Amino acid sequence: MNIKQYFEDKGIDYKVSGSKNVSRGWINIQCPFSYCTDHSNHMGINLRSTGWHCWICGTGHQDIAFLIKELEKCSLGKARSIIKKYDGDILYRDEDYKPASKLWMPTGIKNDWNHSIHLEYLKSRGFGQKTIDKFQLQPIGEYGYYRYRIFVPIFINNKMVCWQAADIIRNGSERIPYLSCPPNKSIMPINECLYNYDSIKDKVIIVEGVTDVWRLGDGAVATFTKNFTREQILLLKKKNIKEAFVFYDSDAVGQSKKLANTLSGIFDHAEYVALDKGDPADLTDDEVKKLKKELGFKIN
Ligand SMILES: [Zn+2]
Repeated sequence: MNIKQYFEDKGIDYKVSGSKNVSRGWINIQCPFSYCTDHSNHMGINLRSTGWHCWICGTGHQDIAFLIKELEKCSLGKARSIIKKYDGDILYRDEDYKPASKLWMPTGIKNDWNHSIHLEYLKSRGFGQKTIDKFQLQPIGEYGYYRYRIFVPIFINNKMVCWQAADIIRNGSERIPYLSCPPNKSIMPINECLYNYDSIKDKVIIVEGVTDVWRLGDGAVATFTKNFTREQILLLKKKNIKEAFVFYDSDAVGQSKKLANTLSGIFDHAEYVALDKGDPADLTDDEVKKLKKELGFKIN
């Protein structure tokens, strides 16, 4: 997204790097959240990832749509349509960007799932101990910015390079569903990662979110948003993939087609799989088995 042009058009005062409070590779505005005490320009938007973060109140997300939603006081859907108008690849190359050498971890991670509302939440979504073990999930306790979330490590080539923290409360739009490790504190920024990457063999199903991957299992990877990046495609290219199936949520047919179209130039076969409604995460185990069988996956 061309965020600078958007701020220009909206008459939103922004500061570029070199100004006070603004790091290299970021663009800053006044934090728009009502509970924040920012009187200057502490809301930083990373020009490379368009992830954003307020240095006063700590609110942040890797998806720019949540910030646009707040700035425009509009729905998430409307925010996404605005972003589309300022399209171009979401990435803005910032050559100064340097990944962290050590992955930063959120505070409050626990080892114990016993009697936790985190486990209740997972169960309510149809997941359980098997998912916890397979994806090395951990509950985050009741304190700190990441409280009441599930820690979801992201591995690339067996190395933890980034993470997400999934909300378990889901009280309307108050809480952001997924917080990600900030790009400058990640070994790989979230929008260059593919969740469950190491499980890919010769076929891949590409979904949006980590819960979709939990449901679909081996061979499924998540891009974290509907806005896949060039880096994610390059990562896929490193695997010996023959067939790719794009399986985004039912509200993202346009992005599904775009990704399938891009991948069809790289792999022998690429197509998008249309869902009538909802997310892949809503499928039952039987539906998943049937689907994977139809796509030619080995079912164990
Ligand atoms: Zn703020």
